[in-house]
Amino acid sequence: MSALKSDPDIVIVGGGLAGLACARHLQQHGISFQIIEASDGLGGRVRTDRVAGFLLDRGFQVLQTAYPEAQRVLDYTRLGLRTFFPGAVIHIDDQSYRVADPLRMPLAAFESLFSPIGTMSDKVRLLALRQRLRRQSIDSIFKSEERTTLDALQREGFSPTIVSTLLRPFLRGIFLEKGLKTSSRMFEFVFKMFADGHGALPANGMGAIPDQLASTLPAESVRLNTRVISVSPNSVTLEYGEHVQARAVVVATEGPEACRLIPGLEPVISCSTTCMYFVADYDPLGSPILALNGDGSGVINSLCVPSSVAPSYAPAGSSLISVSILGIPEEDNKKLETSVRSQLKSWFGPKVDSWRIFRTCRILHALPSQAFPALSQPQRPVKMEQGLYVCGDHRDTASIHGALVSGRRTAETILEDFAF
Ligand SMILES: Cc1cc2nc3c(=O)[nH]c(=O)nc-3n(C[C@H](O)[C@H](O)[C@H](O)COP(=O)(O)OP(=O)(O)OC[C@H]3O[C@@H](n4cnc5c(N)ncnc54)[C@H](O)[C@@H]3O)c2cc1C
Repeated sequence: MSALKSDPDIVIVGGGLAGLACARHLQQHGISFQIIEASDGLGGRVRTDRVAGFLLDRGFQVLQTAYPEAQRVLDYTRLGLRTFFPGAVIHIDDQSYRVADPLRMPLAAFESLFSPIGTMSDKVRLLALRQRLRRQSIDSIFKSEERTTLDALQREGFSPTIVSTLLRPFLRGIFLEKGLKTSSRMFEFVFKMFADGHGALPANGMGAIPDQLASTLPAESVRLNTRVISVSPNSVTLEYGEHVQARAVVVATEGPEACRLIPGLEPVISCSTTCMYFVADYDPLGSPILALNGDGSGVINSLCVPSSVAPSYAPAGSSLISVSILGIPEEDNKKLETSVRSQLKSWFGPKVDSWRIFRTCRILHALPSQAFPALSQPQRPVKMEQGLYVCGDHRDTASIHGALVSGRRTAETILEDFAF
């Protein structure tokens, strides 16, 4: 990417999904902008590394095809989306049980009717919740009474068994927090997204999402490897003292950095996660499904085989296995691998010894916490003062959808403020 051109209309600090969505909207309205990005590439938390023929997303994540903002700005066909099976395999002690969405996989769901994952009335309740949320609009979900997710599950009448074996590990893996303290509004939104669409991976990895957004931006509008150290309404200061002037500045960094750059922004608490990639010469799950830790023992929360979802994630003859752990474990990588392997052996047997550890990613800021009552105001202000704006997933929902929406909202606010 080329050097900064002088005085763009808008400077965008950070080239993650929010910054890219903001840029794209400004571009559509003929406004010039510069994205100034600290790292060596665009995409922020949604980047994919190509290593020895494998696609390694920086942490396990999926695109929900039902996200309205993703539908609006992305070309799904060009992304070559491959979807997960709508269900999960639950590991409890050394047994595994398959559960499936009864409306999309009736045959597989019939098998789960007789599994010990919850009572028959739990299954009826799940179905009723799914149908209610399918009918409900996203707007009304974000106006509904807010409480913690755990409280909401208890009020729905779910038994402790289905909460501990299925709902807790599933939702922990999404919210990246153990206590299910996340706002019930986020829970209902996420549940609706699963009911309305599919979890999916692009053929070229999750990084194909920002790549697609960036593909129409002029090359000279992006400056990489350049950290912004301070911002004011009409200018930013770069690491080595250079100043860039603009009519307005948008801070599109992750929440904690936004708080550093804009004193007075409400604090953002981070949820962390660790992802371990293994390589094997077979697919231990045998289908594109998510495996969950249903008994709560050990460090692993969930596991999947991305190459089983999208074969381009691994070279022919190999499987890429992604193991997700909540938080950042204290052990070093070697000790962590030992405890992970011992848990994997109880799930998949001694063949786990043949798996090769490939990479461990510790992601300190994966999501901004959305602990109740974080979403009492589902869309936080994006305008700090005339000329200074902020976007990112910490302004909306902590998700790809939220980051994209916040970027567009910010661009719309700028367009109104400056009557471009
Ligand atoms: C492991 C993991 C799993 C996830 N799972 C899902 C999922 O399944 N589904 C889902 O919808 N969402 C998921 N998410 C969340 C989703 O990825 C984020 O909500 C979204 O990518 C946030 O985008 P953003 O643009 O707000 O922030 P970021 O992607 O963090 O972008 C901020 C950018 O600002 C840059 N920057 C920071 N400081 C500076 C500075 N001083 N100067 C210049 N540049 C700077 C950073 O380098 C970065 O590129 C997951 C996230 C992670 C990490």
